[in-house]
Amino acid sequence: MKNPSMPAKQSYLLKYRFFPFSEYLKEHFPYKVHKIPLHAGFTCPNRDGRVGVGGCTYCANESFSPNTRGPYIPIRAQIENGKAFHKKRYGAEKFIAYFQSFTNTYADVETLRLCYEEALADKDVIGISIGTRPDCVTDDILDLINGYTKKYHVWVEYGLQSIHDDTLKHINRGHDYKMFLDAVNRTKRACINICVHVILGLPGETRDNMMATAEAVAGLGIQGIKLHHLYVAKNTALAEEYFKGNVKTMDMNTYIQLATDFLERIPSDVTVQRLVGDTHGNFLVSPIWNASKAEITSGVTREFERRGTSQGSRYSALAPTVNQPVLFPCQKIKGQDLEEPKLHTLEI
Ligand code: SF4
Repeated sequence: MKNPSMPAKQSYLLKYRFFPFSEYLKEHFPYKVHKIPLHAGFTCPNRDGRVGVGGCTYCANESFSPNTRGPYIPIRAQIENGKAFHKKRYGAEKFIAYFQSFTNTYADVETLRLCYEEALADKDVIGISIGTRPDCVTDDILDLINGYTKKYHVWVEYGLQSIHDDTLKHINRGHDYKMFLDAVNRTKRACINICVHVILGLPGETRDNMMATAEAVAGLGIQGIKLHHLYVAKNTALAEEYFKGNVKTMDMNTYIQLATDFLERIPSDVTVQRLVGDTHGNFLVSPIWNASKAEITSGVTREFERRGTSQGSRYSALAPTVNQPVLFPCQKIKGQDLEEPKLHTLEI
């Protein structure tokens, strides 16, 4: 039970030991908000040859994004279906349109505008979250997205996975860490929330490599993080490597330890949007843990409790970010006026 004299954040840090996105949404909205995953029909420059072919070695979008299977459904209909599902199953009242599949900034600005605004036209959609690659956001696209912050709650989600260029090359990401930093710094000049995706257990990475990623991400001034363990899906280059014996996956306890280690290094005001990846249908090759997402999440909470730590408990020991512009994003709810973006520079 919440202690009424305790600020909400401390209360959920006591309960979960980290900052779940569900709690973030409760802090920001007076009604129950859920994300509706969407497939807008985009592809990915790392698949169609513009940046690379074949995509990231682990990528099988259809394994984690059910909307990519079957015939294309108009965005408006996807929103209607998603609303009906989340209302009935979870009692959700308002929604964030989550452009999830492939690269959701991979089109000209006018095409993107039509897509995004088809979702935002729904009266129950109060926000938008756009998943993309760091090498696929021009300033014009960021301007378009920033325009929505006047009325909506807005996120851009960047796939990073690792800060180590050797790893990024190995998994055929098609971009390096420098490109990611460039995208983040340009996004921070706008009033857009940033969520970063990281995979733990990538081929060739040690615990030290993963913690270096955590420490680098911790200093970026971002608002959200998504973590998951490396898993091997069918019909991927990673699966070929796995069957040759060149790639290993981890057991659940190892992941729980690593995720806890990682979150100890992430500031406690960065919301955790995901701790476990989704694989739908029969796509999963390895690892098979026979545990629900809730069991894995509560395993992380229990590990924090066992250690007597919580998210961010190792963050204060880190050096502050130097001379990076840090934006404190506006808190926006549909119908409220926009505050001007404020740029701050930390100087020591
Ligand atoms: S960037 Fe995303 S969609 Fe493109 S290949 Fe990699 S994981 Fe797949």
